[in-house]
This record gives sequence, C-alpha cells and structure tokens, in this order.
Amino acid sequence: MNATTDLPKEARIVIIGGGIIGCSTAYHLAQMGCSDVLLLEKHRLTSGSTFHAAGLVGQLRTNANITQLLGYSVELYRKLEQETGLATGWKMNGGLRLACNADRWIEVKRQATTAHSFGLEMHLLTPREAQDLWPVMDISDLVGAAFLPTDGQANPSDITQSLASGARKGGVQIRENVEVTGFEFDGDTVRAVETDAGRVRCEYAVICAGQWSQQLGRLAGVDIPLVSVQHQYLVTEAIAGVAPDLPTLRDPDRLTYFKEDVGGLVMGGYEPNPIPWAEDGIPDGFNFTLLDNDWDHFEPLMQQAIARVPALADAGIRQMYNGPESFTPDGNFILGEAPERNKLFVGAGFNAFGIASGGGAGMALAEWVHKGAPPFDLWPVDIRRFGQPHRDIEWVRRRTLEAYARHYTMAWPFEENTSCRPSRRSPLYETLRARGACFGEKLGWERPNWFAGSPEAARDEYGFGRQNWFDAVGREHRAARERVVLFDQSSFAKYRVSGPDAARALSWICANQVDVAVGGVVYTQMLNPRGGIECDLTVTRVGADEFYLVTGTGFATHDFDWIRRQLPPGGDVRIDDVTTAWAVLSLMGPKSRDVLQPLVRDDLSHENFPFARMRELSILGARLRALRVSYVGELGWELHVPVESALTVYQALMAVGADHGIVDAGYRAIESLRLEKGYRAWGADIGPDYTPLEAGLGWAVDLSSGKDFIGRAAILEQRQQPLKKSLACFTLPDPEVLLLGRETLYRDGERVGWLSSAGWGYTVGANIGFGYVRRADGVDRVFLESGSYELEVAGERFACQWQPGPLYDPGMLRMKC
Ligand SMILES: Cc1cc2nc3c(=O)[nH]c(=O)nc-3n(C[C@H](O)[C@H](O)[C@H](O)COP(=O)(O)OP(=O)(O)OC[C@H]3O[C@@H](n4cnc5c(N)ncnc54)[C@H](O)[C@@H]3O)c2cc1C
Repeated sequence: MNATTDLPKEARIVIIGGGIIGCSTAYHLAQMGCSDVLLLEKHRLTSGSTFHAAGLVGQLRTNANITQLLGYSVELYRKLEQETGLATGWKMNGGLRLACNADRWIEVKRQATTAHSFGLEMHLLTPREAQDLWPVMDISDLVGAAFLPTDGQANPSDITQSLASGARKGGVQIRENVEVTGFEFDGDTVRAVETDAGRVRCEYAVICAGQWSQQLGRLAGVDIPLVSVQHQYLVTEAIAGVAPDLPTLRDPDRLTYFKEDVGGLVMGGYEPNPIPWAEDGIPDGFNFTLLDNDWDHFEPLMQQAIARVPALADAGIRQMYNGPESFTPDGNFILGEAPERNKLFVGAGFNAFGIASGGGAGMALAEWVHKGAPPFDLWPVDIRRFGQPHRDIEWVRRRTLEAYARHYTMAWPFEENTSCRPSRRSPLYETLRARGACFGEKLGWERPNWFAGSPEAARDEYGFGRQNWFDAVGREHRAARERVVLFDQSSFAKYRVSGPDAARALSWICANQVDVAVGGVVYTQMLNPRGGIECDLTVTRVGADEFYLVTGTGFATHDFDWIRRQLPPGGDVRIDDVTTAWAVLSLMGPKSRDVLQPLVRDDLSHENFPFARMRELSILGARLRALRVSYVGELGWELHVPVESALTVYQALMAVGADHGIVDAGYRAIESLRLEKGYRAWGADIGPDYTPLEAGLGWAVDLSSGKDFIGRAAILEQRQQPLKKSLACFTLPDPEVLLLGRETLYRDGERVGWLSSAGWGYTVGANIGFGYVRRADGVDRVFLESGSYELEVAGERFACQWQPGPLYDPGMLRMKC
C-alpha cells in the first residue's frame, strides 16, 4: 500500500519523527492507554541521528529529576527486550569517570556526592582500582576516578525498533516515508498536520524531529532553539584486553569517551572548536547519511586517546563516523508544550545524550501530552526556559558552539557564558561598568554580579575554593545590612494584567489574596492542581482593573505562559509583557529612607508608606512606581522607573546616598542576603514539586477568606496529613568548606535529602544551606529538632546545625552557630 492511500485522515495525537524520542513517546502513550496515536517518519525509523549514535548510557546530571529521568531509561532498557522480544543490546557494565588533576578530582568527588544525594551508587576509586576495571588504560597521570555501576550501553537502533514494536502492539500506527510539511491551527490551537501524503486532522502534534525540529517549528510559528553540530567517533578492530563487560569511560581532561564494541573500542570526544553543520538548512534527502570524515579535526582527540589507551596506536580502524546531531545553547534537551501554541509539544535537541535520555524523555513527554502536565518538575529541560535571544538562530548557534566546546571542560562553580555578550542591557549598563561591575548573564540580560574596587579587576577567577570576588561581595553585603545599597534589577520580568475581569482571574490563579485595595503589593505563589508552586512573584494592584506582576528574569517565558493558560476562558482580561518598559532600581538597607526621602515630596514614614504598599512617586520629572518590598531582609524600595529616566533617578539616588555610604551591589550579594533571611528561590528551593506547606510558605496561602484558587483542594488535603518533606535551614560555620547546593544531607547517619541552595552568609559568618528533609512517615518540627545532621561535601562528611527560622532579622540576630 502506498503512503498516500494508507495514511489515516485523523488521529488524536500525531508524533512527528521516528527516532528514539518519537518512538519512545509513542511507546509510552500506548502504555498509558492512548491508542489513537499516529507516528509519521519522513524516511525510515532511526534514519536521523539515532542510527549513528555511539550508545553510551550515563545517568548522572546536576538536577535530581533529570537524573531520575535517565535512571528511568536504564530501568526501561533493562526490561524492554523481555517485553517486546526485540534485542536492545543493553549492557549494564557501569561507567568510569577519570580525574587527572586536583581540580578535576574535586569536581569528580562533588559529582559522586551529587549522585549520593540523588540515590545513585557512585564509588570513588584509586587509579589502580580504576585500572583493574579498565586494564587497557594508562594511569600514570590519574589522580582518581569514580565508578557508577548502573550506567551502561545499548544499541540505539535496536532500542528504537524495540520501542516502536511495543508502540505498535499498543495500537500506535507508524507510517514511514511520510513527511510533515506544515500545520493548521484553530486560533493558536493545532488542528491538523499537512504531509506530502495528505492532511491529518489531530488534537495534538508532537515534534520529535531531531535536528529538523527547528525548521519544523518555524512552520508552526514556534521557536525551538537548536542547531546541528558535527560529532565524530571511531570504532576499532578488536584490541587485546578489551572485554565485553568493560565499563564505559569518560576522560574529560582528555576530552574523550570510550565504550566496548565487539572486542574493540568506540572512541569519540568533544573538540574545543566544534564545527556547525547545515547553517542554511538541512539538505533534502539527508537520511541514513553520514558526513565526510574530518581527520584533521579529530586528530587532537586521537592523540589524547592514544595517551590514555596506548594500544589504540596500533589498532585497526573499523569505521569512523561523522554524524550531525542537534545541540542547544545550554546543553540540555527541550521538552514541553510550545509557549506560542496550544497542544503542540516538542521533544528535541538531545545534545548527544538522546539514547541515554530516550526512555525517560519519552515517558515524560507522553505524560505531558496525555495528562497536560509532566510527571514531575522538568525545569532544566522545559521549553519555557528560553526567551528573547533564543529566537535569533545566529545567537543560538554561537552560544550552542560554546556549550559544546565546554562539554568536558571543568564545570566551575559560578561559571558564566562568554559568547554573544552583551546582548540585552539595562540603561545603567555603561554607568555600572565604569563603576567596576562584573556582569553575569541571564536570558541575554547583562546583570551586575559584583563590583570590583580599586585595584581589583572586574573579572571572575574560577576555582573550587573561595573565588576572587568573595571579599567584594562581603563589602556589598555589609553595606546592605549597615547602610544602603543599590541593585540594578531591570531584567526582572514584568507583566500588566488588565481588564474588568483581571481581579477575578488573578484571584483564581494566585494562592494569596490579591484582590486588595489599589496600591497593595502581594507576595504570592501560583499553584498547580497538585498544590505545587508554578510561579513565585509579587502582584501589585495599580488600578481597579489593572495589576502589575514582577517575577524573576529567568522565568519570563515560563510565568507568562502559565498565567496566560490559566486565565479563565471568556473573561475580559489580558496579559501583556511590559518587561522592557521599566527599569528597576532596588534601594535597600537601613538608610534607604534617608536617601529616598529628600528626593520626593511624599511622606515615606512607615506610618504613611508601610511594607507591601506601592505608591507613585516623582523624581526629577520621572513618574515611578515605588514598591516597599525586599528580598534581602532590609528596609527598602524597588523603584520601577520608566526606562528613559533610569539614569536620571540612579544619579539622583547616588548623589544623595553619598552622605550615607551608598554603594552599588550585585546579584551575588543578593544571594547571600536572601539566604540569611530565608527567602526561597524558585527553581532551587521551590517549584512545581513542592507545595507552600512543604516550603514553609503556608502563611502566603489564603485559606481563610474562602476564595477558591488553583491548588486549594490539594493544600487543604495536605493539611490533614503529615508532611513527607519539609524545607529546612542548616548552617556549617567552617569557612574552608564551600557549599554550592546538591550536598547530601544526613540525619542521624541516614540520608534524608540534599541542599537545594547554599552559600556564605557574611553577617552570620557561616555557610547556609537549604534543603528538604524527607521521610515517608512525616517530617515535623519535633523530628527536625531532634536529629543530628551532617552534610556530605565532595565525599567528606561535616557536622551541621539545623536552624529553626530565618538566621537574620533586622534588630534580632538569631544566629547561634
Ligand atoms: C556521532 C554521534 C554519537 C552519539 N553518541 C551518543 C551516545 O553515546 N549516547 C547517547 O545517549 N546519545 C548519543 N548521540 C545522540 C543521539 O544519537 C541523539 O540524541 C538521538 O538519536 C536523537 O534522537 P531523536 O529522536 O531526537 O532524533 P533523530 O534520531 O534524528 O530522529 C528524528 C526523526 O525525525 C524525522 N523527521 C524530521 N523531519 C520530519 C518531518 N518533517 N516529517 C516526518 N519525519 C521527520 C527524521 O527523519 C528522523 O528520523 C550521538 C549522536 C551522534 C551524532
């Protein structure tokens, strides 16, 4: 039967792409009971990147849920053959990771601790022990190694065929040689896909088209920021000493990886000078196709590999592969419902770990489509993590090449990207630069991290100890506590929600009471139906029918998308992104009133301008919104200033502030200050997997007024049960220890969680860490205070103290460590 006559006219869910991701998504949809699923593949299954993957399956990532996703892949690959009858080539031979210098050894030890935090076994080995597992390697330069016994390897094409077979058995229809050429929408909701064999009406479309996804997304009006990059590896003839159970090996200091293959070795790596491919679009007919080998480009990796495995020098080369693969600007893949459309999903951009992720990513994507929400928080891979710069494919390419080149370089704490900068600049950028700002970058925005004083250089020097900015941030921190500082927070995402139904809509979406008098500022979470925290922001009522919402820079797309989708249908309410209309100058510290008061006619006394209020003020002709709020635990105002007046207002504040010792301060000081005050950070301490009750934010949930809101029922129900996890604060005074987050938390010797965020508190003089304490039977205050705690940091355990509340309150220092 030819494809045209055979093609169904309708399917509830159409998956585009028959690589491992499309087939895994189809398989899992079938497992979930969705049989009205059609998978379309423009050529043959596996003909994209999947057929030429090397097949290493590693699990450990820096995020617990993504690690869990990869762990799910391993579980699935273990049992798939039994279920479908098709071999997958799965071997759980473990994975080794080498360290050849002191810094790498710290990194590897920290990775082992992260593995322990996430419940993965990972052992630290001496060079000799590593060699026992990998006899063909030279260990003369080794400092140590780590071994993850449940890692493994598989045959990518076989796994994919096995998944496809499972999907077919579950009722999924698979059509090869059908190319999707366009989309039809009803408003913003997908209605059909167009193909070279006719139109297929559908309720959902899922783009799993590998490196073609970016082009396909454009046809749908959706930005999928990925580009193709060449990736090479070779396969040798048999080598003496290479046994079938040889673990996979990653040798980051030599930029290379290895796995066993029919008695020989697969060897590939990440060049520091990656070569982009198909910059003008992928040529037609690129199926089951490899690129020409580029020996010159590969040779430096080959030299590194021979130094590690001397037998490679004499081994015959069976084949060399140069395959293009899709990579993304931050090295993570892309999952979720496209924010520009409804019911159009994406699973793409797998950065050369699509085989490792395939099982878990397909499961998560299937559940996202089927239930309208992912199984757990997937923020690091969520398509809504991108923003304005990611719509420019040249920006995406340059940033992606940087990420590729850094795949195996040291992952320094606090490391910043260097490409494509500066892109988005606050009106104060040049001024702050001249005053010594060392900038970091978020979603394209340049943001001061800290300010160098003379003769310091405004440049981060990376390392695993205290870095060069430590003292400078301490100065800013103390100035905020003792005098007054100014933070440029212009990159905050800001939305205007307006219309006659705005108050009603926001009351439904927000957990706190936001239907307040004009001028009220409300800190609130927005919850999902499970009670998990989707957004964490302030809502200011600026008029009877108008609200001004302010959230974190990185959440611009995510929070806008969440709010837009929750607006009750048929209501007269709209949301507009007004981020670029307002600069934000945050004036914080005990002297902030003394600085602001002389510049305005209004009475700024506490009685007249209390906490959580907004007033419009005028400074030198600028009409601005002053919000009396704080994320650092001091008296202060966020001044939201029309962009064109930002510099004028900044200069006025600095001029008056000079008499009060005002200084510029940056984001690293904010982090230290907020840790002391116990303010939560979304994406670290709170997120969709945590409820306000678990996060200690129950006070910000309005259960008393009787208003209904998304997640209310879940919160009420949770109130009846013991909490299974609870966010807690810990201190560790030893300044030689560096807490960064992800350190393993033990209570009375038993693993109970890990740190969600951490840093140094300059006022309290200790490391501060926040983390959830987990226990199936419930966690309450008695349980928390009756335990003795330790933190595992880079493989070593240190005693730490549980702290009952915020460590710092102005006028009341509660610190006891
Ligand atoms: C050299 C190399 C080595 C690698 N090694 C590893 C490894 O060791 N471990 C690991 O985990 N990963 C590895 N990878 C990565 C892995 O191969 C990919 O991440 C994975 O195969 C991606 O799967 P996918 O389904 O997203 O894309 P693909 O396999 O590319 O599938 C996409 C499919 O969509 C189809 N398609 C595109 N457009 C359309 C359209 N308009 N209509 C219909 N169909 C369409 C394509 O034909 C293609 O079959 C490696 C990659 C390379 C290049």
